Amino acid sequence: SEEALLQSEKLSVIGQLAAGVAYEIRNPLTTLKGFIQLQQRGIIISDPNLSLMLAELDRINLIVSEFLVLAKPQATDFRMVNIQAILAEIDVLLQPQAIMQNIQISIAPPVAIPSVYGESNQLKQVFINILKNAMEAMPCGGNVCIELRADSSCLLIRFSDQGCGIPQESITQLGDPFFTNKENGTGLGLMVSKQIIANHKGSITFDSTLGEGTTVDIRLPIIQLPSN
Ligand code: ADP
Ligand code: MG
Repeated sequence: SEEALLQSEKLSVIGQLAAGVAYEIRNPLTTLKGFIQLQQRGIIISDPNLSLMLAELDRINLIVSEFLVLAKPQATDFRMVNIQAILAEIDVLLQPQAIMQNIQISIAPPVAIPSVYGESNQLKQVFINILKNAMEAMPCGGNVCIELRADSSCLLIRFSDQGCGIPQESITQLGDPFFTNKENGTGLGLMVSKQIIANHKGSITFDSTLGEGTTVDIRLPIIQLPSN
């Protein structure tokens, strides 16, 4: 069945990634082990080293939690979802961070948009990943604009930021596992997002100008119900 096919595709992606994840978490684990061994030999771990251990644990936690999104059952929880409601929830969630960074998030237009068939938690995860990237690209503040547009077959969700932009040669690498330019990035956010959008039979595309900003377009199919 189609679901079985999706499932096997997903498993193969996860298989390829497992090696990468193992590699990424081995360093922090080695650090943690070293400190615990020192403690065992009676060497007291200093406060800065305890903070370092916590940071390493946070990093492992982040990598594993981004990765786990793929392993959760997906095809089972599909239902009609209201994208505007999901975006409003995320807006509330990201407000504290946005305010601290002097970032304004605007969602337009306020008119009703057709529902799409999807898994709301997974779509929420995608929108959070995209918005976090937008915010991280604007360390000195700016605007992120979310626009919604629907035609008879598809819903467009467009995220535009005024951030640092992405070099043209990197655009094709977006969504490759562990591709990141950030010191503390995992390079898993877009990979997971691409996978989720593919499971929704949608598309995700990037358009960017260095120093000006980035536009991420997500298209999701709209199911036409029979009119009688
Ligand atoms: P991470 O955020 O952990 O680095 P992602 O998969 O979310 O991993 O993003 C991968 C890379 O794509 C980022 O490190 C960044 O270089 C680039 N990127 C993604 N979105 C944007 C954006 N809106 N503006 C600038 N660069 C971006
Ligand atoms: Mg990210």
